[in-house]
Amino acid sequence: MKDLRKSRFVIIGAGMSGILTAIKLAESGYDDFVVYEKADRLGGTWRENRYAGVACDVPSHFYSYSFALNPSWSRRFSPGAEIQSYFEKVAEDFGVTSRIRFGSEVTRCHFEAGRWEIELADGSRDQARFIVAATGVLHEPFVPDFEGLEDFEGDSFHTARWDDSLSLKGKRVGLVGTGSSSIQILPAIVEEVDTVTLFQRTPQWILPIDNTAYTQEEKQAFETEPALMQTLRDETAEMMIDGFANILIDADSPALKAVHDTCEANLNESVKDPELREKLRPDYRAACKRLIMSEGFYDGIQRPNAKLETGAIDGFEAGGIRTQDGRLHELDVIILATGFKVDAFVRPMEVTGWDGVALDGIWQEGPRAYMAISVPQIPNFFMLNGPNSPVGNFSLIEIAELQVAYILALLEQLGEVGGTEVASTPEAMSRFDRERREAAKKTIWNSGCRSWYLDSSGLPTAWPWTFDRFQEEMQAPRMADYEVR
Ligand code: NAP
Repeated sequence: MKDLRKSRFVIIGAGMSGILTAIKLAESGYDDFVVYEKADRLGGTWRENRYAGVACDVPSHFYSYSFALNPSWSRRFSPGAEIQSYFEKVAEDFGVTSRIRFGSEVTRCHFEAGRWEIELADGSRDQARFIVAATGVLHEPFVPDFEGLEDFEGDSFHTARWDDSLSLKGKRVGLVGTGSSSIQILPAIVEEVDTVTLFQRTPQWILPIDNTAYTQEEKQAFETEPALMQTLRDETAEMMIDGFANILIDADSPALKAVHDTCEANLNESVKDPELREKLRPDYRAACKRLIMSEGFYDGIQRPNAKLETGAIDGFEAGGIRTQDGRLHELDVIILATGFKVDAFVRPMEVTGWDGVALDGIWQEGPRAYMAISVPQIPNFFMLNGPNSPVGNFSLIEIAELQVAYILALLEQLGEVGGTEVASTPEAMSRFDRERREAAKKTIWNSGCRSWYLDSSGLPTAWPWTFDRFQEEMQAPRMADYEVR
């Protein structure tokens, strides 16, 4: 029996899951930890994504920590800046902010003689027994290799590198891509710009949502009677789990057909011009790509100053974007809503575990992790929202809370068996991976579309089983699947 509570922890990343880890470690008596954050502010994805219209498409009372409900959410789906403030407040309230070292990018973690040797970009070093990598999922912008990208003479930037100082008022804006980010941006800018041209390679199904603001009375009631918020959260969770997360894993489920029908009716009823309607009609099934929820997109794209361009992009030029049919679309600003490098996870950080084995080598064929948390040969290194974690229109907070509870239970069991080092066994990883790949074939994500959910072999990478199964697995680590030293 060993008490690991005196062990030192390094948490990498001060976003949603890093803040959560700090709170839960302290609460469980593990008080020797630091949070390294590369930026000068906490908030992760909500710090990085400040584009016009940014919001969370998971209802706010569900996209909150279970232990820090927030009576002040302004809307069913609150805007990004409000979510950023929420994380700042929680971090302050729970004493996390003072434990964060800002401007500290971890570049290398090397396991030697029972400890992690940690190197930072500023040349400083640290040592720890355990690392929690709360480094986020989509954090490395992906910009396609468009011909002439550098030649464009106007302003051009990725959605996660939004230029806060730039006014779009009266500008001719090009918006490339039709993912969740772009669909939020278009209705948010259409009124102020001169024109917005949406460059669409693939149309999207859009699930209509009602994003009504909470009234003052409702917010007051949440404040004075927190049980109301709890009930709302529980109901939302149930609706998201049973009505959504659990149906995605069976492409043949009638519930998925109902979602598809709702999206189809939304398109048919919302878009008046038949030609535009057909251009916006996807040829794959709803929820194959991450389902987009929007209140205003169809309205936005039908404004007289909005144009939908479906011709393939040939390249960028000084004056704008040329499509393959030879037309030049003259633009002042180009917004690249082109997504993220989805297989980055903890990288570009360099990680080497037992016997100098490199994580990059283990991940040669793509990132994977046993139970989405641990990688063989990489001991005492736990990932949150890592590879194979559940994704898909669901609260990543709920997922991270379950994962942190699992890691704490794993540490407890490690102490009980007298060990100080733990990593999943290669056998457990292979079995998990084999079963995961088999189950992935039946999911809606595998029903015939291109999306960031797919790995290089074309199979979905996310947790392919029910959310209930995820909850069950996270209840208690199976120690037989771990190598302990
Ligand atoms: P995305 O979903 O990966 O979309 C990228 C878009 O860029 C796609 O439409 C893609 O077209 C297009 N694209 C990529 N390369 C292209 C090329 N060479 N030529 C033309 N078009 C190209 O990225 P995202 O919109 O940033 O969203 C990523 C994820 O972030 C979402 O799925 C979601 O998980 C998260 N997110 C969440 C929220 C939220 O409300 N919670 C909001 C924003 C983002 P194809 O479809 O043809 O590949």
